[in-house]
Amino acid sequence: MERVVVIGSGPAGLTAAVYAARANLAPLVLAGGLYGGQLMLTTDVENYPGFPEGILGPELMTKIREQAERFGARILDVDATSVDFAAKPLVVNTPDEAYRARTVIVATGASARWLGVPGEELLRGRGVSTCATCDGAFFKERHIVVVGGGDSAMEEALFLTRFGRRVTVVHRRDGLRASKIMAERARANPKIDFMWNTAVEAVLGDEKVIGLRLRNLLDESLFDFDCDAVFIAIGHTPNTEILRGQLDLDSAGYILSPDGTLTSAEGVFVAGDVYDHRYRQAITAAGSGCRAAMDAERYLEALEFASPPLTGSAGASSERR
Ligand code: NAP
Repeated sequence: MERVVVIGSGPAGLTAAVYAARANLAPLVLAGGLYGGQLMLTTDVENYPGFPEGILGPELMTKIREQAERFGARILDVDATSVDFAAKPLVVNTPDEAYRARTVIVATGASARWLGVPGEELLRGRGVSTCATCDGAFFKERHIVVVGGGDSAMEEALFLTRFGRRVTVVHRRDGLRASKIMAERARANPKIDFMWNTAVEAVLGDEKVIGLRLRNLLDESLFDFDCDAVFIAIGHTPNTEILRGQLDLDSAGYILSPDGTLTSAEGVFVAGDVYDHRYRQAITAAGSGCRAAMDAERYLEALEFASPPLTGSAGASSERR
């Protein structure tokens, strides 16, 4: 019987593991086949407090993992394949084991959506990206395309004007989904232009992006458009496939949480991008992992399953942390 099982190993899951481990709960982390979450796909992280020179995303995740292990978290690089949150104790299944747990912290994150067009996968990291804050600086004075019409696309386009000489937003309709303020900001920026009613059919290039094949959706004509990079900003998909029918989800599949840690299942807590589609930052995910671990610990205390509190400085519930 586990006291805490954490599903996921991005900043949310691993921070939850650090706090649960320091509370002497010996959490079991099901880290997934590829641990570390979205930060494993990034280069420099310059906005995570404590690293004035920046830190590589994978390095940051390795450090948080080591920190959790140092305090007794057990981290398995396996995927959770299904859960039973109606059962008491809760059940989390992996391909080889079924784990029974008093509490589960779900921190499975979200994945950027891709277009699924030819060339996109081949040129990922060589001009195709889903993260302007990660990769924008590589395209100084270049012509950059952003695909999408929501707040993410506007935010990416605005951010990319710091680097590119020109930023073209390619959108499939003639109206933006983005909030008024973001749309106005983008429209007012002289470096940004818009290409409406246009779909991306292919990303062109062998070694790096040299352009896009586009389709004018009004007359269905195809044409090639030169550019040096394309940032796909068509939204994220929460990683909640294994949670369908187990937790209340919103219409987009994000976990519904009234207060940002509790879920619709007793003993199941949530952290990170799998419920938070608003901030989606490493630091906000880490903060929510901390909160989920503290709430899980309090829940266990209430059930009288928690270990005796440690003396001294350890303990997730310590107000000094
Ligand atoms: P979103 O609002 O769902 O917008 C996705 C955009 O991508 C839409 O314009 C959509 O076109 C387009 N799109 C979707 N699939 C596509 C495809 N296959 N091909 C081409 N275009 C496609 O997603 P988001 O922009 O990531 O925003 C998600 C949430 O986070 C929203 O609630 C947003 O307000 C919030 N957010 C807020 C901020 C901020 O306030 N600073 C920043 C980022 C995100 P259609 O319009 O035609 O559907």
